Amino acid sequence: AVIPVAIAGAPYEVRIKAGILAQAGRHCRPFVRKNRVAVVTDEHVAAKWRATVEASLAGEGIASQWLVLPAGEATKSWAHLAQTVDFLLGQEVERKDNVIALGGGVIGDLTGFAASMVKRGCGFIQMPTTLLAQVDSSVGGKTAINTPMGKNLVGAFHQPSLVLADPLALDTLPLRDTRAGYAEVVKYGLIDDAEFFEWCEANGEKLLAGDAQAREYAIARSVAAKARIVAQDEKETTGVRALLNLGHTFGHALEAETGFSDRLLHGEGVALGMVLAARFSARQGLMHGQDAERVVRHIGAVGLPASLRALGLDCDGRRLADHMLHDKKMDAGTLPFLLMRGIGQTFLAKDVDLGEVAAFLDEELAA
Ligand code: NAD
Ligand code: ZN
Repeated sequence: AVIPVAIAGAPYEVRIKAGILAQAGRHCRPFVRKNRVAVVTDEHVAAKWRATVEASLAGEGIASQWLVLPAGEATKSWAHLAQTVDFLLGQEVERKDNVIALGGGVIGDLTGFAASMVKRGCGFIQMPTTLLAQVDSSVGGKTAINTPMGKNLVGAFHQPSLVLADPLALDTLPLRDTRAGYAEVVKYGLIDDAEFFEWCEANGEKLLAGDAQAREYAIARSVAAKARIVAQDEKETTGVRALLNLGHTFGHALEAETGFSDRLLHGEGVALGMVLAARFSARQGLMHGQDAERVVRHIGAVGLPASLRALGLDCDGRRLADHMLHDKKMDAGTLPFLLMRGIGQTFLAKDVDLGEVAAFLDEELAA
């Protein structure tokens, strides 16, 4: 599938196909000058996919220079940003050049941010290799690094020139990471596409078991949803793009409480966050309890965390609610919250009472 992303002034395509990394050379050819290209990746991805991409580029007469960074969230740092920028400058990258980000969200966010500042902004091509990166982070142009003050606090909007998503890349990804990325797939169904949520209920387990067709379909439908939302609100000014944060306010609090560690991956936090958003919506009388339980059931059925109690946190609801206050999405004293009127009917509730959220979380911690 080819999904156009209609960003004013900088439209681009997301091309999704099994085996596309092995054809990267042909797809990149029109975007590469001087028969040279710089590629940034991490050590895990390099071990599995560098040879494929390098050979494909070489097949088109394109020589590639590689920067292989350590794997992991800690790579989204000032130090690695400097290293990446210096590497790209060392490769004499010009503004009209495109550099390649081959990897998950960490490599995409870091390389995209580096590209936004090299010569005041050079082009870049995203080759996302995790499900999370394929359905979410590689599309939409948000790039960032973390600082000791928090995650994604320094960054830029910088859209890629092209995105190549290969479902076969997931064959080498640990199942836990694929599952975590799948939470973001479910998110698109819950935001505004009940029919896609039904598809997830019917096909999610197959997708996680490795079904290539299900993977390709889910990636394409998710990217189309993200493209639609981002095209309406590129820089998150009208509130439409904020819908993409469904499950993320609760999720972020859980990630903060678990120290942004391997104890709870981002997607796992989002999965449980969507469960909590659904149950809280039901508790507020906004959504039918049965619909909320459908969300709980599906998240649980695919092996994602669906119970707050099962997480075994040593804290109370107030403490989790306090983490939300520190989330950058807070606005002048009121807490904007994405809640649901039903499956596929997410909306931004403007001023949710934090005390009620804390009381709800206490119930869930004990449930
Ligand atoms: P990641 O990039 O750390 O990848 C997860 C792990 O999988 C890493 O160890 C990586 O080396 C490994 N890996 C990647 N592809 C592989 C493959 N095909 N085979 C084997 N191993 C592979 O994490 P992620 O989940 O992809 O991304 C998380 C990051 O994305 C976070 O920093 C988050 O802030 C960011 N993010 C950004 C946006 C955005 O809009 N820019 C949206 C959501 C998340
Ligand atoms: Zn997310």
